[in-house]
Amino acid sequence: MKNFVTEMSAFAISEAVRKREISASEVCGAFIDKIERDRLNAFITTTFEEALSIAGKIDLMIESGDDGDLVFAGVPVAVKDNICVDSLRATCASKMLCDFVPSYSATSYEKLVSIGAVLVGKTNLDEFAMGSENTHSYYGRVKNPYDESRVAGGSSGGSAAAVAAGYAPVAFGTDTGGSARLPASLCGIVAMKPTYGRVSRFGLISFAPSFEQVCPMTRTVFDNALVLEKISGRDARDMTTFETRGSFTNKIDAGVSNLTFGIYAPDSCERYITEAILHAARILDSCGAKTDIVELDSPEEAAAAYMTLSSAEASSTLSRYDGIRYGYSDGKVVSSRTEGFGSKVKERIAAGAFALLDSGGDYYKSALCKSQRIKDETDGIFNKADVLIMPVSDKAAWRPGENENNCFTDRFTVYANLTGCPSICIPAGRTPEGLPFGIGLMGAKFSEDVLYRAAYVLEKEIGFFSENAGCFAGGVRNDI
Ligand code: GLN
Repeated sequence: MKNFVTEMSAFAISEAVRKREISASEVCGAFIDKIERDRLNAFITTTFEEALSIAGKIDLMIESGDDGDLVFAGVPVAVKDNICVDSLRATCASKMLCDFVPSYSATSYEKLVSIGAVLVGKTNLDEFAMGSENTHSYYGRVKNPYDESRVAGGSSGGSAAAVAAGYAPVAFGTDTGGSARLPASLCGIVAMKPTYGRVSRFGLISFAPSFEQVCPMTRTVFDNALVLEKISGRDARDMTTFETRGSFTNKIDAGVSNLTFGIYAPDSCERYITEAILHAARILDSCGAKTDIVELDSPEEAAAAYMTLSSAEASSTLSRYDGIRYGYSDGKVVSSRTEGFGSKVKERIAAGAFALLDSGGDYYKSALCKSQRIKDETDGIFNKADVLIMPVSDKAAWRPGENENNCFTDRFTVYANLTGCPSICIPAGRTPEGLPFGIGLMGAKFSEDVLYRAAYVLEKEIGFFSENAGCFAGGVRNDI
């Protein structure tokens, strides 16, 4: 088992650890061996010593029969480096925070370690989570596990690459406008952007607080549902959270026969993406669901509204990094900010400040109106359909620089962020060159249970899932 534990799902690992078929320490050692050979630049900080010591404690608890709540016993987890872990540096991939060591942990992280998960490291990202390719990191770019000359997607590129490469079966990403789902698509894994308020943002270093959520990134739909159900819920330290109880895994195999799907397969994507969406529709049809073709009015406008609103929030949120209250300091506010921030972050702050100030905030107000139109449009869709099947990215992984000035890369994913709705990316196929790509399933607020049910059907029928390995057979790069 030691030889293939890095290919196993989180659920299968914790079962094996709890049945004492393998120890948490052995699991941890196997993953560390792999991470030590990382060529993808997936991690900013690794935590091997702490991980081994915690795994040892879990083994002792299991030996003494004290493992009642350890649903994730010994499961390695990688956490995006904009999520705080007590006493561990949290850089946001920025020079500005290269020495920042928080004195508390994010609620989402605390919840996962309280049930036995073991942190193996903090993952790379685009600086302050702004970007779609993970090429804009103070710590260098993340490489795609399927072709190292290509991007892993961003901003949670390190987390996506880590899960795809088998460095951890579970990672946390964050998604403000697509940052968990886009790299998941480009690396061939599963990522859920939950309903806004489902998961606490306490301990997440914010860039656009009204859009962000912490997201489970995994290789299987079941693992993803299991992680989300464990990290959800009201948190007194984040007033935007809701109390949401219940299991996503209980009825995950209930099928889709009573569900209606809106199918959106736009021509503006590569053909293999639209084909994959139509293929998913045929599968759902054959499983007894109802499917209808739908159109979205204006993905480009959604992307523009998102960019204006999120930049405006960024210009305000990042004002705390002045070298006095927080962040890299060379003694003066102007030079601390000039040197501490990278160029992309500075562009956003400037654009956001302009949107708020120019003509009394007209740009900002018109973006708010557009956002309201997007909400009305999606409400209309969810009055008729339970789930909307749609693209995540319009193509598989590209090379750095090939998509640099495309401000519409996130035009499909931002729908879920502007509306607060949940959306999951699942692997949907490979290009002839062998590059993975995903498709998205979006639903009305708090419909994650339905999304997981549909994703579970598609995962099996599309054929990426291997029962034997307990995970996506094609999802782990063993040669890395
Ligand atoms: N690519 C988008 C942006 O740069 C989304 C980022 C995110 O979701 N964190 O704003």
